[in-house]
Amino acid sequence: MSDQVRISGIVAESITDGPGFRYAVFVQGCSHNCPGCQNPQTHDPCGGELRSVEDMVAEIGRDPMLSGVTLSGGEPFEQAGALLPLARAVRDMGLELAAYTGDLYEDLLRDTGDRRALLELCDVLIDGPFILEQRNLDIRFKGSENQRIIDVPASLRAGAVVLKEDGRWIAGSDPFAPGMRERV
Ligand code: SF4
Repeated sequence: MSDQVRISGIVAESITDGPGFRYAVFVQGCSHNCPGCQNPQTHDPCGGELRSVEDMVAEIGRDPMLSGVTLSGGEPFEQAGALLPLARAVRDMGLELAAYTGDLYEDLLRDTGDRRALLELCDVLIDGPFILEQRNLDIRFKGSENQRIIDVPASLRAGAVVLKEDGRWIAGSDPFAPGMRERV
């Protein structure tokens, strides 16, 4: 496997990028330019470093504590093609795959290429740009009120957006949840 993804960083056991321990991949490159973005260092598509999918998959496979993998950024869907082998491997391992995006679910769904393919591999999508005026530190796993935590398989089946009702993702009983976080 020689696929590579340009990343700004990895947190091998994150507790702030989804419920439980998450292998969080912060993808490098984002063209959304949301005012107030907390991660401007991730915007340059030529910044960061290249990391092999093979290495990431091996790292994930060695950690029995992981409940899922989260693609964040940056904008993961600007490297959708490069992320497909990683996404497929995560699903093959039986782990939950979540992705953040500054795009909307509906726009990714209209895509006929790699962005749509990556969307279809996700269990959870947190969509929409960070909107400074709607910033809310009291909501878990989101930075601003406009963002939605979407159940992707249910949405694909229904032909309409279905929000995640799983208590692990919304305010609830996750023992690893940090409570509130700032999320962009
Ligand atoms: S908030 Fe996210 S989508 Fe918006 S500019 Fe920053 S990294 Fe990109």
